[in-house]
Amino acid sequence: MSISVPTDTERWRCAQCGNLTRFDVTRTVRSRDYLHLDLSGASRVEESEVLAETVEHVRCRWCDAVDAVDVVPRPAAEASAGQEQAAEPA
Ligand SMILES: [Zn+2]
Repeated sequence: MSISVPTDTERWRCAQCGNLTRFDVTRTVRSRDYLHLDLSGASRVEESEVLAETVEHVRCRWCDAVDAVDVVPRPAAEASAGQEQAAEPA
């Protein structure tokens, strides 16, 4: 089963318990990082750019369901989409 990654207007919802906010995500990330090393040789990442990302597994922190997430609209996106379709009076 492939996992759909939410866009800017979407979010995950656990299909089993409805959790919207807490997930353990296992993902493969290809990134380009700016490492800033101090004179002792210790490094830290000061900038990180994600070049590619693949979500492998999503586990719900509430009910432990694995890869059982639905992609649903975020509240703001849902509201604006509703306005466009319904054209409710202000
Ligand atoms: Zn759940």
